[in-house]
Amino acid sequence: MRQVTLIPGDGIGPEITEAVKAVFRAANVPVTWEEENAGQTTFDSVGELIPQTLIDSLNKNKVALKGPITTPVGKGFKSVNVQLRQMFDLYANIRPAKTTPGITSRFENVNLVLFRENTEGLYSGLEIFDERLQIADSISRVTRVGCEKIVRAAFEYAKKHNCGKITVAHKANILKNAGALLLRVAAEVAKDYPTVQMEDKIIDNMCMQLVMKPEQFKVIVTTNLFGDILSDLCAGLVGGLGVVAGANIGDDIAIFEAVHGSAPDIAGKGIANPTALLRSAIMMLHHIDLKEEANRIEAALEATLANKEECTGDLGGKASTMAFAQNIISKL
Ligand code: NAD
Repeated sequence: MRQVTLIPGDGIGPEITEAVKAVFRAANVPVTWEEENAGQTTFDSVGELIPQTLIDSLNKNKVALKGPITTPVGKGFKSVNVQLRQMFDLYANIRPAKTTPGITSRFENVNLVLFRENTEGLYSGLEIFDERLQIADSISRVTRVGCEKIVRAAFEYAKKHNCGKITVAHKANILKNAGALLLRVAAEVAKDYPTVQMEDKIIDNMCMQLVMKPEQFKVIVTTNLFGDILSDLCAGLVGGLGVVAGANIGDDIAIFEAVHGSAPDIAGKGIANPTALLRSAIMMLHHIDLKEEANRIEAALEATLANKEECTGDLGGKASTMAFAQNIISKL
């Protein structure tokens, strides 16, 4: 049995987590969950946003599945998600976006993976606000070491999966330093990967190309803020936030989580789509070498997604979160 840390999160988090647990149970996945939470509700009960028990659990288990955590907008505490990524140096945020039969979207044949640098750039936390002058500064700190780690992760993936091409998205024309280092480092690293062709695109053009001809992209690598925005854009290409998975991976620890947030507008209604978290859990199973279980659950999920009626409302169906999970279970 492999022990994994489970962070249910806020809003719809606990609902979609229950659905994933039910599917894992039915599939006899040899995983046991060690449940620890974080965020506002945890702060209210134990006085810590990220309790020591969660940190200990992550250090011990090395792998976690995480639901979304609410972050106050423009005030309050620093994002728990950002803190966890920085605390455990989870430098690679990996988000696949693939067209799925049965899921309606405006595009076809999308099959790409986004590698977003996860700890630096404008999310470094270097923020200053001068009350008197009413001037706000957010410093974008990008390091050679940080660039090399994310770029190598992307090239390794492209090589392993025979993707043939990697696209570096940047703003090196305007941001000559923080916007250019990733590109410079990528050009150097590319020499170690002769089977992978490297191209680069300025971020504004990248956005247009993604909505004009998304099938041209295989692996995209970019800095933190651009990656944050592009990942939601890519989710939109393949059916929306409810269906895309994500992984935060470092050299030691990995946290798998859905791309979407805590969806306060539908929380507690039992109608949230658990696909994104389940797909993240499938990525996690690959990471811990439970490939047979991963493939079996994925096949049952894909077969369910192919039939709208068996899915949740966001996908055009009428099923509740748990009914959707039962439909997946019936196909295992
Ligand atoms: P959101 O992703 O929570 O919701 C955006 C829209 O998508 C809403 O209409 C919501 O109902 C819908 N949606 C999202 N997930 C869905 C699902 N699984 N099934 C069906 N519909 C779904 O984005 P938001 O409203 O901008 O953010 C809400 C909160 O979540 C904020 O506090 C934000 O900081 C936080 N957040 C957390 C994470 C994370 O923990 N990784 C990521 C993004 C946002």
